[in-house]
Amino acid sequence: MTGQDKENITEYVCKECGLIHEVREPADANSADQWKLAALAGGGIVLLLLLWVWVFKYGVPLVRHISSIE
Ligand SMILES: [Zn+2]
Repeated sequence: MTGQDKENITEYVCKECGLIHEVREPADANSADQWKLAALAGGGIVLLLLLWVWVFKYGVPLVRHISSIE
């Protein structure tokens, strides 16, 4: 066991020669990135939910109020 099973191998198409190369990254760094992405996505979803709640709480009554004036 050399610890290679803890690496993530990412394949990508090379811009210079057009062939597929492999990039080996330590699994720890990769999972840390994934946690960052997950945290960002979760934060975005929470912001979106808050925006929806705000729109329904204040936006809809405001629109009804405006349309009832006309
Ligand atoms: Zn290449």
